[in-house]
Amino acid sequence: MKPFLTFIFFLLTNVFLFGQIRTTQEVKPLQFELLATSNLVTKWIEPLSIEKEVFSFAVKSKTTIHLQFRTKKSGKKISQWKNLELNSHRQTYDQYWVSELYFLSVETEGIQFRHLINKRPQSPIEINFISIPIGYASEKSIQSDSSTCACEQPAYFNREDWCPTNDCPEISNPAITSVTHLIVHHAASANTSSNWAGVVKSIWEFHVNVNGWDDIGYNWLVDPEGKIYQGRGDNVRGAHFCGTNSGTMGVCMLGNFQTQAPQDSALEMLTKLLAWKSCDVDITPTDSSFHSSSGLILNTISGHKQGCSTACPGDLFFPLFPELRLAVESYIADSCKTIFSNINNRNENLEISLFPNPAIDNITITSSQKFTFFIIDSKGIIIHPKTKKALNKINLDIDQFSEGVYFLYIKSGEQFSVEKFTVLRAN
Ligand SMILES: [Zn+2]
Repeated sequence: MKPFLTFIFFLLTNVFLFGQIRTTQEVKPLQFELLATSNLVTKWIEPLSIEKEVFSFAVKSKTTIHLQFRTKKSGKKISQWKNLELNSHRQTYDQYWVSELYFLSVETEGIQFRHLINKRPQSPIEINFISIPIGYASEKSIQSDSSTCACEQPAYFNREDWCPTNDCPEISNPAITSVTHLIVHHAASANTSSNWAGVVKSIWEFHVNVNGWDDIGYNWLVDPEGKIYQGRGDNVRGAHFCGTNSGTMGVCMLGNFQTQAPQDSALEMLTKLLAWKSCDVDITPTDSSFHSSSGLILNTISGHKQGCSTACPGDLFFPLFPELRLAVESYIADSCKTIFSNINNRNENLEISLFPNPAIDNITITSSQKFTFFIIDSKGIIIHPKTKKALNKINLDIDQFSEGVYFLYIKSGEQFSVEKFTVLRAN
């Protein structure tokens, strides 16, 4: 075995023996050789066949590169050359040229690169291999946060589920953001996997150890089977929207929707996730509004490409967005009401008063503590959305309410109460 290959073999073996999951290999410009044809190629980088469940790589370079790669498996023919694309989720502060994260078959034994321009790259290329050993990541528990808005937060897998070795720390000082826009992405990665938690962990490795970000870029990730994974979590400013992340919640649909449309199971869970957050922060899913960080008027539910030049969330997904926004709106109207099964849930501790009750034009709500609230009618439809600012007292104009019974949902700190009132109309 030649020294070059021996070195790689040693590096990879060493890494896996010690249980780490990321290693890098540098190919210097001089290691691109001119073959009989006019292409400058690297030698085959091999062997890569070490026990692993999820296997990916990304290339990093100080200067812009124009590369293709191909792979080979044992006893099988060599793949077609494929362009190495620039990472569509890079941030404005990123120092390096970084490719997308490419997921490879675990049977891949070697990889080779060629430079599309007939001269050597100007700087070394760093190949970052990310491998999740078999049995490393597993989805083992589900959490669900209760919510006092009309839509419950769907269940999700938390960080410990996709990073059971607890070596994927959260940011110690996360920047909190007040969400006004929900931004949907695709991962531009593989459409199939036997271990989606391992894919999430791979993306964390890519964002933190290759891109150099503080944490995984997205707030939430959804796999093709419709499972949700916690990324940065709720109301934390992420790194996903063209460097203008304030005011956004970023959701990444795992898969590549340049090549196929998302699965129904994933779209259904995305709809529930967007419905919960729309309800939580009082977003109308079919509206557009000003997003101050980007200076753009955006749909409240937008695709990444509405913020800057990228194919994300993919040509076979983005055309479905009008339908998605309507589905979120319908979900809030039709399905969220089912959580209001217990409407006799008064909490005496809050000392709430409604006056007058029955009411005609106005109703005054007072409480011993500051509160936020929303109102539904007797069919469970939201008549007045959740308020954002907590007050002790509010005088509410109910001119537009038709005659009937209504339920006031009040939240104060961790306490919660439901109060019934009646609206009368003169005949
Ligand atoms: Zn994106």
